[in-house]
Amino acid sequence: MKLHEFQAKQVLARFGVAVPNGIECRTPAEARAAHTELGTPVTVVKAQIHAGGRGKAGGVKVVKSADEAEAAAKAILGKVLVTHQTGPEGQLVRRLWVEAGSSIEKEYYLGVAIDRESQMPVMMASSEGGMEIEEVAAAHPEKILKAPFSPTSGLARADAERLVKGIGIPAALQPKAIEFMSALAKAFCELDCSLAEINPLVTTKDGKVQALDAKISLDDNALFRHKDLEALRDLDEEAPLEVQASKFGLNYIKLDGTIGCMVNGAGLAMATMDVIQLYGGMPANFLDVGGGATAEQVTAAFKILLADPNTEAVLVNIFGGIMKCDIIADGIITAVRQVNLTVPLVVRLEGTNVALGKQKLEQSGLPIITASDLDDAAQKAVAAAKAAKQGKK
Ligand code: ADP
Ligand code: MG
Repeated sequence: MKLHEFQAKQVLARFGVAVPNGIECRTPAEARAAHTELGTPVTVVKAQIHAGGRGKAGGVKVVKSADEAEAAAKAILGKVLVTHQTGPEGQLVRRLWVEAGSSIEKEYYLGVAIDRESQMPVMMASSEGGMEIEEVAAAHPEKILKAPFSPTSGLARADAERLVKGIGIPAALQPKAIEFMSALAKAFCELDCSLAEINPLVTTKDGKVQALDAKISLDDNALFRHKDLEALRDLDEEAPLEVQASKFGLNYIKLDGTIGCMVNGAGLAMATMDVIQLYGGMPANFLDVGGGATAEQVTAAFKILLADPNTEAVLVNIFGGIMKCDIIADGIITAVRQVNLTVPLVVRLEGTNVALGKQKLEQSGLPIITASDLDDAAQKAVAAAKAAKQGKK
């Protein structure tokens, strides 16, 4: 789950991470009032969407009066921002954050992520702030300094010092920068983040070290430990079908292809997508219904796959281990009878009671194409999707 910039800043402030004052706004009138209330000569009106690159796309405006704040809010609210992180369809702006303007001396980069190699959180720092860190990583990897740290003991002071000096924070501000880093490291662990990124971290002309931007992704599997954070979820920012899937405990990710996939187990789902591509097709989604999927979940999954207008065929690939194939077949039959199946359906079952499962599918009288193995299933699904597309033309 992602947080908005303003939510991330509010949460990080609780840990002592320094952020500018700001006010969340939903209308131009609120933005006008916020500028006055903040009382600084300059404020910044910022679009709140779950994507970075807003500045370049016109979603961040520096203003010097209440009139300007209102005008900026009018221009940004309701706009579809297209940034390198939104994809070409962009994201509609519904909320704003009006923030006290900082007199920036220099911009830096700070980020915490999980490092797979050391299997620990890692603090990353760079002198190249404000720009896309992926570009820095590609062109100047040596400009990103790293310090893995233990989630129990936190970021070691010596490591924080090495990073702060290494990215060139002026001596007078180094203690503040070290404090900032330690607070960010603590927040990352206590909030169960998968990413906490401050880009830019700035030093200001009046001697502050502050986060001007903040991006937090939380580990969904740990959300049950953070009821207060769960309440910050903004469903407007998420793909509607993914929201629907999460209500039924389905792991669903929408993709761009035409073959809807329903699979149990993430590994098998990945393999299914690979084999579809091997035979010239493209998966419309990733969908793991889990090991113990119920008929209700299978029905919900079918509805989601069929709600995607790109779906030209559905491929069900289920391994009956904990759940037996005949039970799965019952679930599929029930689901297909409930939903209005508008595209060809290929089913491949394997595992316990497979013969009985296949028999049930065949005797159901439903137009289900059964497959003997994954290759066969993928080829049949790709062919069916192509034929369906031809038929539409
Ligand atoms: P994004 O990364 O989505 O473009 P940022 O929050 O990083 O959005 O803002 C883009 C740029 O706008 C920053 O790099 C900074 O130069 C400027 N900026 C953002 N917030 C402030 C602020 N409070 N005061 C002054 N400048 C700001
Ligand atoms: Mg930024």
